[in-house]
Order: sequence, then structure tokens, then C-alpha cells
Amino acid sequence: MKKEAYLGVDVGSISTKGVIMDGDKNLLASAYIWTEGDPIGAVKRLIEDLGAQFDREAWEVVATGTTGSARKLVGAMLGATVVKNEITAHAVGTTAYHPDVRTILEIGGQDSKIILLENGIAIDYAMNTLCAAGTGAFLSSQSRRLGIPVEDMGAVALKSAHPTHIAARCTVFAESDLVHKIQMGHTKEDIVAGLCEAVVGNYLNNVGKGKRILEPIVFQGGVSKNIGVVKAFEKALGAPVIVDENGHLMGAIGAAILAKHHDARKTFDFGIENVAFKTREVICGQCPNRCEIICVYRDGKLIDNWGNRCEKGDITARQAKHA
Ligand code: SF4
Repeated sequence: MKKEAYLGVDVGSISTKGVIMDGDKNLLASAYIWTEGDPIGAVKRLIEDLGAQFDREAWEVVATGTTGSARKLVGAMLGATVVKNEITAHAVGTTAYHPDVRTILEIGGQDSKIILLENGIAIDYAMNTLCAAGTGAFLSSQSRRLGIPVEDMGAVALKSAHPTHIAARCTVFAESDLVHKIQMGHTKEDIVAGLCEAVVGNYLNNVGKGKRILEPIVFQGGVSKNIGVVKAFEKALGAPVIVDENGHLMGAIGAAILAKHHDARKTFDFGIENVAFKTREVICGQCPNRCEIICVYRDGKLIDNWGNRCEKGDITARQAKHA
């Protein structure tokens, strides 16, 4: 008999993450790829990658969870047994490895969030809405400007003894201040360290505003790989900041754990590479609300829809009734 495994997928606007776990929270396979504006294509590549790492003779994926901004679409594609928001998935994933965590700081490519927990339960959260200056996209664009690969930014920042102050009220201010500081002759090390501090300052002033940041603090998301930003957080908070080696996969890990704990079971079929998925938006005209309904088709057949505010707009249910 095959052993049971659980698949978790986290599809964000920048990156798509996936893990397969056993019942004891051990990772059997993991993958991290770029979404490149095509969540459907990214998920197909992700599943192929995970399938290649995974021993399908010995294991069987019996439940699947999805999270992230494209969680519903991907949940429909994969026949997920659980679809959960990122806050829940990150809280569940992180507490699995750091049960005492009180604060989760997360900075991704395009968004950031903070989650506050008590006894392993998320009690408050905030997400960035407007400004990119507290995200990885800002660091990436500035690394190009400075001619330093983004993955080297942390090591460069650590060489600085006097980080340059960079005004980071918003991306536009930060960029023009950065150019000004380059022209003033500040060293690259000081500027990069200043950028790391600017990202942290912006994050704490926007996302973390008014929140009580208590220890233990876990920092995750793509930017947590930048040791310069980790150090800047420790300096600003006056407390140690934990970075888990699987921090970039925590959403997917949380989704897999949620799938494991859910009652629903459905064997996952890895063969989705040749399946055609399409989405279409239709307006429900049955009342003045005119809800925008997203329909997902698998090989031309409607498999899911959402966006309707009432049952009358549930196209899948309507079709099933008349089938
Ligand atoms: S889904 Fe319901 S609320 Fe939305 S437009 Fe249709 S009938 Fe109106």
C-alpha cells in the first residue's frame, strides 16, 4: 500500500511555490519558480517539477491545498481539497516549525504582510496596499541601477559600517534620493545597506504601523534571503529575527498541512501538462448588481466559477442541474 502525502501550492503574482509533505511535516519534494504573469503555465511547470522529484511508486498524494492570490483558479485546476487565504496558510506553515512564534514578518516580490499570533492562532494582520518601497520589487529595481545582482545585495550591505540614510516614504522619493546619494559619492556598500534599512523602515511604518511586534519574530518571503534586510530588522526592532531555511515555501507548507487536516480526500493526478485550462469573465445580468463571474474551463468544460454574490449567479451549479 502506498504511503499518504499532501500537496500544497502557493501561487503569487511573482513566484509560484509547491511542496509535497508526508504526515510528519517532512518535505518529500519542493519547487519555487517564477509566475511570469501566467499562473496556469507556472502551475503546470511546478507540478512537473514536483512530480519528477517524487516517488509515485511509494507515495500517493491524497489531498491538495492551494493559497496565494491565484488560489481559487489553481484550486480549480488541481482539484484542491482546500483553498485558503495567505494569512491562514502562512500562520499554519510557520507555527508547524516555530510553534511559539508571535510575529511573522513577510516581504515578497510585490507585497508584504505582518501576522500577529497568540498561542499559534493568527489574531491580527496587515498587508501593504499602495507603496512598493517596502517590497522585493523595489530592491530588485535598485540592484539593477547599482549593477549588483539582487542575491549579492545582503553580502554587500554587511560590509557597510555607516549605512546611507535613504528617504523611503515612497518608491519615487527613495529612487530620487538614491540617485542623489550616488552622486554625492557614498560608497555602494553604504548605499546598499541604506536601501535595506529603507525597506525595513518603510515596512515598519506602513505594514507594521501600530502593531506590537513581539518575540519570537520569524521573517519570511523572498526578501528574507537578504541578510542585509535581516540585520536591518534586528537593528530596528532590537530583537533577534529568525529566518527559516524553508521560509520562502511557508505558504505552500501551510496549504499542505491544511489539506492534511481537512476531511476531504482526493487522489492527485500529476498528468495536467496537456490539459487545456482557460478562464473567462461573464457578467451575471440577473439583477442590478451585475456581478463579474470568473469561469474556469478544463478542456472546454466549465469546472468552477466564483465572483457571484448569490446562488442565482452560480453557473457551475446551474449547468449541473440541467445536465
Ligand atoms: S450573482 Fe446574484 S447578486 Fe450577482 S448579479 Fe447575479 S443575481 Fe445579482
